[in-house]
Amino acid sequence: MTSRRTFLLKVIPAAGALAILGGKAMAAPATVAETDPQAVALGYKAVGSKVDKAKFPKYAATQNCGNCQLFQGKATDAAAPCAIFGGKLAANKGWCSAWVKKA
Ligand code: SF4
Repeated sequence: MTSRRTFLLKVIPAAGALAILGGKAMAAPATVAETDPQAVALGYKAVGSKVDKAKFPKYAATQNCGNCQLFQGKATDAAAPCAIFGGKLAANKGWCSAWVKKA
């Protein structure tokens, strides 16, 4: 009985620590890289003002990830997962040609 209790006292905290590590790993998705082929195709820039306006004339300075419908965070979050980029983090001040005004 004592050894079982000792075993549980050792195993349960270890399992808890693993769960926390697992949760952290899942809570930190990668950032969208401007060099990612999809980002290049959509003209994504982490700083919207650096968008190639000749290629993406629909860009407007008032548009940014923070006010895009696909930005899965609060308007004040520095970065949040983007649905277009499979949940990778888009920068609040970023922009890509899939921008849609937040409803
Ligand atoms: Fe930013 Fe919206 Fe483009 Fe995602 S879809 S990168 S949130 S502008």
